[in-house]
Amino acid sequence: MAVAPASERAGGVLNRPVMPAPSKKSLTILLASPRGFCAGVDRAIQIVERAVERYGRPVYVRHEIVHNRYVVESLEAKGAIFVDELDEVPDDRPVVFSAHGVPKAVPNEAARRNLLYVDATCPLVSKVHREAERHHASGRTVVLIGHAGHPEVIGTMGQLPAGAVLLVEDTAQAEALSVPDPGSLAYATQTTLSVDDTVDIVAVLRRRFPAIQGPKQEDICYATTNRQAAVKAIAGRCHALVVIGAPNSSNSMRLVEVAANYGCSKSRLVQRAADMDWNWLEEGWTGGAQRLGVTAGASAPETLVDELIAACRARYRVIVEEVRTTEESVVFKLPRQLVA
Ligand code: SF4
Repeated sequence: MAVAPASERAGGVLNRPVMPAPSKKSLTILLASPRGFCAGVDRAIQIVERAVERYGRPVYVRHEIVHNRYVVESLEAKGAIFVDELDEVPDDRPVVFSAHGVPKAVPNEAARRNLLYVDATCPLVSKVHREAERHHASGRTVVLIGHAGHPEVIGTMGQLPAGAVLLVEDTAQAEALSVPDPGSLAYATQTTLSVDDTVDIVAVLRRRFPAIQGPKQEDICYATTNRQAAVKAIAGRCHALVVIGAPNSSNSMRLVEVAANYGCSKSRLVQRAADMDWNWLEEGWTGGAQRLGVTAGASAPETLVDELIAACRARYRVIVEEVRTTEESVVFKLPRQLVA
């Protein structure tokens, strides 16, 4: 008769020797800083929250206040209703315009209908609007460098009469651009472009039209510039890099491209931890500690970064190393109608 092992004789299966759990793989997260919310997004969200407090529910918001589903859903829960156009807003409810800016026709229509409206356009976008108006008033044709169809581009082009702004999206279009008077030309840019791509496009415009006028400092905003610089600092050290952000967020998409251009070809956008493809992350892992770069676009809240790190901790032995390339202290004032 076979004799049971001593461990089982002493107390059954519970006393069988326990095999050690397979140890978790090691993952170092290089956390880019600055990342996430910029001052313009922070202000736009506060504007909606304050408007609900001041005017009661619901407050209407024309377009996504910022390009992030999580933010939009949080504001819906607080009493905001998001619509595509002004004709969906009842006459007796306030409406907020998004951080990307709106064509002039929108506030004009709101005023015609006597709507109470609050403009959450980022002050750095409003600055571009004023530049475009100034050049137009001086008789210059305005060349706008930006992405067709993006709300900010629609808003900036809509500051001037139809046809007064020529849109250029890349160097090929800059090479092919034909203008009415090369001696009377100015350019402005979308605020959330790739810094490197924009330098190339401006170089083509300056070569072809030496008299072209432009902003003293590029229109690309501090937040876009800083987030791209932080990604450049870590990309070459990462096996993979994740940008938390929305596919319709221009600055988030640019961060993915920057990572690829600066040494991390395995980079992608992830909206939140639940969307993370862990197989993708582990493809090509050779053993030993791996390094994952993490950043977030200007419209992605820090809570989504925390959520992704927590999901990584559930799977791996994680060390987080924050790589800070600059400090940010920009804060924009709220509109007077919400602080008085
Ligand atoms: S990304 Fe730049 S321009 Fe856009 S809201 Fe933020 S600070 Fe303003």
